Amino acid sequence: MELINNASLKSYTTFGVEAACDHLYRIEDVEELKLAVQYLDQPLILGGGSNILPLGSIHRNVLRVELKGIQIINDSDQPLVKIAAGEIWHEVVLWAIANNLGGIENLSLIPGTVGAAPMQNIGAYGVELANVFHSLEAIEIGSGQLVTFSNEECRFGYRESVFKTELRNKFVIINVTLRLSRQHQVDISYGAIQQTLNDWHIEKPTIRDVSKAVIHIRQSKLPDPAEIGNAGSFFKNPIISSSQFQLLKQEYPYMPGYPAGDHVKVPAGWLIEQAGWKGKRIGNVGCYEKQALVLVNLGNAKGEEVWSFAQEIIESVRIKFNVQLTPEVNLWS
Ligand SMILES: Cc1cc2nc3c(=O)[nH]c(=O)nc-3n(C[C@H](O)[C@H](O)[C@H](O)COP(=O)(O)OP(=O)(O)OC[C@H]3O[C@@H](n4cnc5c(N)ncnc54)[C@H](O)[C@@H]3O)c2cc1C
Repeated sequence: MELINNASLKSYTTFGVEAACDHLYRIEDVEELKLAVQYLDQPLILGGGSNILPLGSIHRNVLRVELKGIQIINDSDQPLVKIAAGEIWHEVVLWAIANNLGGIENLSLIPGTVGAAPMQNIGAYGVELANVFHSLEAIEIGSGQLVTFSNEECRFGYRESVFKTELRNKFVIINVTLRLSRQHQVDISYGAIQQTLNDWHIEKPTIRDVSKAVIHIRQSKLPDPAEIGNAGSFFKNPIISSSQFQLLKQEYPYMPGYPAGDHVKVPAGWLIEQAGWKGKRIGNVGCYEKQALVLVNLGNAKGEEVWSFAQEIIESVRIKFNVQLTPEVNLWS
């Protein structure tokens, strides 16, 4: 375990905002992590920092989970693969492809660690973690007790899990077990994947082809955090009632919407763009010109500046459409 006092979180989050942190612990060992969550008061858990916006200085103990290791548990057509929380998600995707294991290729290039993936049930291009998730092990903060959660017990939803709601800040996830597959059934239902594969004249795509297509699409429309600070989608896509959607459709006939049970999911990026924010800049913060859902740190933005920019967007979308946007990003204070 390494303890850094008076640390700066700037290089530990992809937003790259300056934020002091009293005590940052980098932990590579499960037993040390167990002790830390038993004896440190209300710690905050950090993975790759790609879904966090610190607001000001953090006067709490921050534990960065750096546990490593990948293990195939039962080698079969659908092997279970147990992955330590500190592994980098995209490296695991590449590892799976190299080992001819399918199921997560659509989730290529999502930044962050494996331990954070269940938090918001990461998803992209028609696939979400819940599709391949088997179980996870987590340590309860305070007691240090080891608890296993099944897929059902995680209560996954759209960018949601029990760890973002009732059990928020109650557990640190130490490993995740996925059920992957050697009998591949690639999912290319998402239009942009299909189009890219067509452009490349690939008729029978492999999992590697799908991964390459996803990487290509993502690199063409999302800012690389190594170049421009951001945390991917800042807001969740709002889910509204069908009746509200029909009303809005009368006023905005081109408004897109996708079925979500008996509700309708509306792309937040479209709402933000229609409200005039795409490409707009205030001080050091901007709304990304290629994807309005992404807020970017254009210089030395502070977390508070990003949040106040986000609040202006929320307010203008509420006034224009009577739709409430909520952040997907975790705000730390
Ligand atoms: C350019 C870009 C593109 C993105 N695209 C997508 C996308 O397509 N789909 C998508 O779903 N997300 C996307 N994201 C968001 C982000 O990559 C995911 O949410 C990712 O899972 C966060 O992982 P992390 O390790 O960086 O978590 P962090 O940002 O470090 O933490 C996120 C939350 O999880 C908690 N946490 C982290 N590790 C643990 C642990 N081991 N145990 C318990 N709690 C923990 C933290 O306390 C925090 O609340 C994108 C982000 C960026 C920057």
